[in-house]
Amino acid sequence: MKKILIVEDSTTVTKILRHLVNQQPDIEAFFAGSLAESEEVYQAHKDEIFAAVVDLNLPDAPDGESVDHFLAKKIPVIVLSANYKEETRSALLDKGIVDYVIKESRYSYNYVFKLVRRLDKNQHIKVLVVEDSRPTRAFIRLLLQRHLYQVLEATNGLEALDVLKDNTDIKMLITDYHMPEMDGFALVKALRQNVDKSDLIIIGLSGEGESSLSAKFIKNGANDFLQKPFFHEEFHCRIMHNIENLELLESIQDAANRDYLTNLHNRRYFYSKGEAQYQLAVKNGSPIAVAIFDIDKFKKINDNYGHKIGDQVLRFLADEIRHNLLHFLVARMGGEQFCAIFPNLKNEQAMTLMDRLRSIVSDTSIPIDHEDQDIDITISVGVTNYVHDSLEQQINYASELLSHAKEAGRNIVVGDDDEL
Ligand code: GH3
Ligand code: MG
Ligand code: MG
Repeated sequence: MKKILIVEDSTTVTKILRHLVNQQPDIEAFFAGSLAESEEVYQAHKDEIFAAVVDLNLPDAPDGESVDHFLAKKIPVIVLSANYKEETRSALLDKGIVDYVIKESRYSYNYVFKLVRRLDKNQHIKVLVVEDSRPTRAFIRLLLQRHLYQVLEATNGLEALDVLKDNTDIKMLITDYHMPEMDGFALVKALRQNVDKSDLIIIGLSGEGESSLSAKFIKNGANDFLQKPFFHEEFHCRIMHNIENLELLESIQDAANRDYLTNLHNRRYFYSKGEAQYQLAVKNGSPIAVAIFDIDKFKKINDNYGHKIGDQVLRFLADEIRHNLLHFLVARMGGEQFCAIFPNLKNEQAMTLMDRLRSIVSDTSIPIDHEDQDIDITISVGVTNYVHDSLEQQINYASELLSHAKEAGRNIVVGDDDEL
């Protein structure tokens, strides 16, 4: 939950904003009607306030004094204004506000919430600025930090490659063209040999009168370009637009890798990621365990309570799995069957983990919506550490152990060394 401070004297605007804030599940707001009141609210909630949304004209701050007041506190400031004045807008952006929003429609107010969310996410996004000119580098850093991005710097292409090697989680790279050692094109070309546009956003910078560079940047594999000297708003719009595209792509990819009902990973994803973990273990001669597990007599639950409640039970189990096998790859393989892979764990260790899950599931009653009665379920598990020729074979062997668990009476974990 992000908390913001909204400083606005108009009762009509405040009413609309209150209404809209209530519709945001992840944003809460403190309201103040004057600069004096906003300072009181700020003092009372200093540690909680993430950003301030301030009106330019307040009864006790008629000339935007509230903006300076909150900028001095080093929190992001979004300005609300009843009218648009070009000079005011650029003066405010120069001062360091995040953005300038005109009070005109529901759309513009919703844009404020979108910005707050964006700022929140930006805190986790690393951007590498590659530029040999110190003032330009500093200026770009300043613009990015204003929107709370984490900023790293390099002064040429070679240095950038080094920084990227140490920070594989960099999401965006902004690069100049003219640089010593390795120029911008060479850098983009080198990177695009093994990093896709959807894994790293590259934005090329071209100087004044060098518009042909822009097209060349794109042809060499950059996602976008910016022409120097750039203006705050254009800079931020481009950056935001590219980050949003990347996030959209990531969410589509993620949805394709997950099971709709439980939101656990699906079989296809399990095989693609699991195979890599399996091959690495084989190469290093390190242990790797695989567990297959499934709900006991699940068909009866569907028969007795209906398919919908069966689905609720599956979702409950998925939550327990997520919680208990947090750092491991787990998938719903289909129906009521799940698979987990444990790199570097020996059979006993994987069995201990799975037995803890088994015992929790067996001890927890599942509350069901609109039903007086809770439902109890158990799971049976097969765990093997015996490495075969392929991950698939190892999974098949785990399934055999699972059948033994069923034969042995269910609600049990069967491993490699168990007497069958
Ligand atoms: P066992 O202890 O031997 O595993 O018995 P079981 O009843 O759990 O196994 P069986 O394979 O006979 O039945 C599995 C049931 O799971 C049958 C199927 O209708 C149900 N099922 C599979 N997918 C879903 C689903 O997505 N939702 C619901 N509600 N049920 C499902
Ligand atoms: Mg006002
Ligand atoms: Mg079953």
